[in-house]
Amino acid sequence: MAKIVIIGGGPGGLYATLEAKKQGHDVLLLEKNKIGQNIRCAEGFFDVLQILDKPPAGIKYKVEELIVKVKSEHTINVNPLHIWMTDRATWQKELAKQAVNAGAIIKEDTPISPDDLKELKQNYDYIIDASGAFSVTSKSYGFIDFYKNNCGKTVQYTISGDFSHLKNCFKVGLLPDFRGYYWIFPKGCKKDSTANVGIGNFDNSRYNLWKKLNDVLEFENLNGEHYKITKRYGGICPIKLLDKLVYDNILLVGDAAGLTSPLHGGGIDMAIISGMQAVNAISQGTQAYEHLLKRQLSKRLEYEKMLAQVWDQRDFDEIEELIGRISKSNLFSLMYNPKLMPLSTKLITSSFDLKGNPAN
Ligand SMILES: Cc1cc2nc3c(=O)[nH]c(=O)nc-3n(C[C@H](O)[C@H](O)[C@H](O)COP(=O)(O)OP(=O)(O)OC[C@H]3O[C@@H](n4cnc5c(N)ncnc54)[C@H](O)[C@@H]3O)c2cc1C
Repeated sequence: MAKIVIIGGGPGGLYATLEAKKQGHDVLLLEKNKIGQNIRCAEGFFDVLQILDKPPAGIKYKVEELIVKVKSEHTINVNPLHIWMTDRATWQKELAKQAVNAGAIIKEDTPISPDDLKELKQNYDYIIDASGAFSVTSKSYGFIDFYKNNCGKTVQYTISGDFSHLKNCFKVGLLPDFRGYYWIFPKGCKKDSTANVGIGNFDNSRYNLWKKLNDVLEFENLNGEHYKITKRYGGICPIKLLDKLVYDNILLVGDAAGLTSPLHGGGIDMAIISGMQAVNAISQGTQAYEHLLKRQLSKRLEYEKMLAQVWDQRDFDEIEELIGRISKSNLFSLMYNPKLMPLSTKLITSSFDLKGNPAN
């Protein structure tokens, strides 16, 4: 039995806490706010590798269709995939309740500083840093810039209004000359529902993202009298896995480890997986963690990076045609099986030659 302290009560920290209790460790979780407070997220849960359980609470609906808007709109059946719209606050509060019932101690309103970290290092066998980007460890060991240099930048509104036209459906859209996308993730499909509507870019270009998001509201007809912005916030998505994930007796998980998708910036699933793997590694010595996690996630990150490169190399018209072909062909159904990810990525990348002409 080890004495473990976990910093941060997001998905990474909470799943690590539950796993650590399951394995019989002594666990303290420290969260700077209240659990479930100040979440910056569109709240879509993509279990890409199809290895995680359905959230025990906070599911709003199972996502059945994805509408991708390039020049025109393409509808893709994603029902066989594991995608849920969630209410993360409800989900996280339930996880915290389960963790406390299992014997973990959770202290809220407890921000950890680099000085506190030094003390924790002395008093605990292991620290799991799940404090997101910019992690407490990065402040202490001096690598904050890594996140800044390898991240997607996002801004998001929560909007209340009528989203009945997007029943059980997510919508994402691409814009010309913009290496990024916007999203509309409704929390429900009734006339008086809310949605997370945001935009993010994944290159180093500097855009006025708020202006772009306001343009999106206009052409998506989300700015009339029937819609009201109730929240606005921004955040970063660290899209490059850190080379080093273990610092002395500290293991980094989730966003703190740079673990969001290089393709779209989503990271809830990877925070959960890395949180649980960090605990598994503890029984095998901390150095096993990097190995275990890279073995599980590197391939996926590699393929998503490849897809992002395809996106980079194509102009707007080519992307329109590519998405059109994918949505109409059986190609997309290969992605239903995570084991076929390399094959489907290869087929997608080779379905167009570099000049954007359809391959024979
Ligand atoms: C606008 C936006 C939209 C997104 N949409 C999606 C999406 O739809 N789907 C998806 O999969 N991913 C999405 N992501 C990414 C996703 O939110 C993160 O990958 C995920 O939350 C990472 O979980 P985590 O547990 O590592 O960190 P976090 O969720 O960031 O949790 C970190 C926790 O640590 C706490 N903390 C921070 N510093 C300290 C400290 N010093 N002391 C104590 N506690 C501290 C914080 O309060 C927080 O509770 C989005 C990101 C952004 C910015």
